[in-house]
Amino acid sequence: MHCTISLLLALTGLCRSALISKSHKGDDPLLQYVVNNSLREHPVLTKLRLRTMEDSKNLMMVASEQAQLMANLAKLIESNKTIEIGMYTGYNTLNLALVIPENGRVVACEINEEYVKIAKPFFIEAGLEDKIDIRIKPAVETLDELLSAGEAGTYDFVFIDADKKNYDTYYEKSLQLVRKGGIVAIDNVLWSGKVINPAEDDLSSQAIDKLNKKLHKDERIDLSMLTVGDGLTLAIKR
Ligand code: CA
Repeated sequence: MHCTISLLLALTGLCRSALISKSHKGDDPLLQYVVNNSLREHPVLTKLRLRTMEDSKNLMMVASEQAQLMANLAKLIESNKTIEIGMYTGYNTLNLALVIPENGRVVACEINEEYVKIAKPFFIEAGLEDKIDIRIKPAVETLDELLSAGEAGTYDFVFIDADKKNYDTYYEKSLQLVRKGGIVAIDNVLWSGKVINPAEDDLSSQAIDKLNKKLHKDERIDLSMLTVGDGLTLAIKR
């Protein structure tokens, strides 16, 4: 019995490490195969990824294969207006800007000017700086401004990837901003597995777990939770 449990735990551990990974972190051969045989990264995105790898917080960068999935989804629903909550060095911001039409835009929320400084030259190099509207302030303020400007129900795609304690607030405001059929994509919903049993003092894990459980019952959306990267939820507005 003990042996069976140990084996199960070992297998669970193996599965978890295989599922929760990013192509730019670790050396999972299967994930490498996925990347080698499916990634079509724009040359400026490649440069931006390599530049971001020099930053100590590079784990915050979205995985390329996940970014490509989101670009495909944004394209599939013919996205024009998009929002990125937590731009970091702009990998996914540029990724979205590359697939939206000429008159489309990405509202990019970021609080750290240093990250914006890294991102901007790459936006310019790609010739897409006019499509990217960077707002350097707390994302809640930007989302409230968009709502006050009467933009509720006009966005197509939102990516939430900022401080986890505010996830529920970001989700509620994003859901107001997207149109019917629009997608709110939420990153890090597995949080390296910590959502399974969040520690008492781990407010980020608790906040993510709470939102995951809320979304499961949320009848305003259709829902998928994917194990790509660190977990990605797709909430599609009904
Ligand atoms: Ca993230």
